[in-house]
Amino acid sequence: MLPEDALGQVRGWIAAAARIVVLTGAGISAESGVPTFRDAQTGLWAHFRPEDLATEDAFRRDPQRVWDWYAERREALRTVRPNAGHAALARFAARHPGRLTVVTQNVDGLHQAAGSPDVLALHGNLSEDRWLDPCPLAGRGAPGCGAALAEPGRPPRCVQCGNPLRPAVVWFGEMLPERALARAEQAAAACELMLVVGTSGQVWPAAGLVHAARAAGARVVVVNPAPTELDDVAHVVLSGTSVQLLPRLLET
Ligand code: NAD
Repeated sequence: MLPEDALGQVRGWIAAAARIVVLTGAGISAESGVPTFRDAQTGLWAHFRPEDLATEDAFRRDPQRVWDWYAERREALRTVRPNAGHAALARFAARHPGRLTVVTQNVDGLHQAAGSPDVLALHGNLSEDRWLDPCPLAGRGAPGCGAALAEPGRPPRCVQCGNPLRPAVVWFGEMLPERALARAEQAAAACELMLVVGTSGQVWPAAGLVHAARAAGARVVVVNPAPTELDDVAHVVLSGTSVQLLPRLLET
C-alpha cells in the first residue's frame, strides 16, 4: 500500500473507533530534544551501562552518583517542551473526551505538560521523589516519620530516620505501579485501535499491552521512523516521526 493510502486507512480507523489507546515511548519525545534509550547515536545508554545507574542496587551502592545523574536529567528536562506529537494527542483528547487513553513509558512529563488528561505513566515520573525504604522507625504501634521533611543533600534524607529520597521512576528489575498497569491492561483489552508511537517494543510488560490489544481484536498501528519489535504485531506500520505523523492522523 502507498504511504498516503495507509495514512488514509488509519485516519478512517481513528474516526470510527470509540476507544483508542496510544502507547508511547522515548521516541515521541526525541523531537523535543530528549534522548531515547536505544538509538545508537544519541541514546542515553550509548554512554552509560544501565546497571550502573538505573537499578536499586546501584543506588544503594552509590546513592550520590545515581542521584547526581538523575539531577542532570531533571535539569535537562527543565527547558524541554512538548512537541507537535504530544500536542496532537492532547487536542484530540480535548475534542473527544473519553475516547483516547494515553499510556506512556516515558518519565519526562511531556504528555501531561501538553495537556493530555489522565496519562497512565507506567514507569513513573522523573519530577517526583519517593522514600527508598519503608520508615525504619515505623512498626510496633509507632507511625514512623514518613511525613517528615527531607534534609537537602545528594540524595536528601529524612531529618528523623535518615531514609534517603530516590527518584520516583521504575528502575530495571522493579515492579510497575500496580494501578497504572492494571488500568492500561484494561484499556488495551477494551480498545478498538492501538497506536504504538516511538517505542522499540523491547521493554516488557509495556510491549505486552500491544500483543494483548491485538489478541482482543483491536487494530494495531505502529508509528516509528525505524523498524521495531512490534511491527509483526501491527496491521499497519507507518514509517515517520511522531511530529510528522500524529498531527496528520489525529487532526481531521
Ligand atoms: P527506546 O529507546 O527503546 O526506543 C525509542 C524508539 O523511538 C525507537 O524505536 C526509535 O526508532 C523511535 N524514535 C526515534 N525518534 C523518533 C521520533 N522522532 N518519532 C517516533 N519514534 C522515534 O525507548 P522505549 O521503547 O520507550 O523504551 C525504553 C525505556 O526508556 C522506557 O522504559 C522509558 O521509560 C525510558 N526512557 C524514557 C525517556 C523519556 O521519558 N523521554 C527517555 C529515554 C528513555
